[in-house]
Amino acid sequence: MQNSDIQSDVEKYEWNRWVPRKVNIFGWRMNLDRLPTRSALSKRNITLASLSCPLCGERDETVEHIFGSCYISSVIWHMVSRWLSIPPIYAFSISDLLRIHEHINWPKPMKKMVHAIILTTCWSLWKLRNDVVFSGIRVDISRLWADIKATSFLWIKNRAKMHTLDWSNWCNFNIL
Ligand SMILES: [Zn+2]
Repeated sequence: MQNSDIQSDVEKYEWNRWVPRKVNIFGWRMNLDRLPTRSALSKRNITLASLSCPLCGERDETVEHIFGSCYISSVIWHMVSRWLSIPPIYAFSISDLLRIHEHINWPKPMKKMVHAIILTTCWSLWKLRNDVVFSGIRVDISRLWADIKATSFLWIKNRAKMHTLDWSNWCNFNIL
């Protein structure tokens, strides 16, 4: 049953019940390049003062940039891969990012956990981006990192019904 071989990367989106529905909808839109990034708005003929990435200010904001090549997201992916003890994450495309868990030789529930963490990280990056754009919040990498760990802990502990999961084990990713 290798449906994934038939479907194109664009069509394929793996729903993950360990993150809220709103995060899955966000992930599905991200995968289809349907988030209102500045480049996407500009393509829809919406005039903007700037197309540059709200997080780094160095490149035009596209989904590939903000979740992949942006300096801020690169630092965060580095932290995620160190935390999980998985190979470095280089997100060249959104579909690569959403399939990282498939290439890790771990039991299925652990792969699902990595996928949930990737989705949570993208969600947190987008939330920060919106805070910067709409509320003038300054980018604070350590706060973003703390937010990713705390949010993924709460979502996965409750949704995966891992009642014995505690915060210190989570912070060290001492789960296997
Ligand atoms: Zn950027």
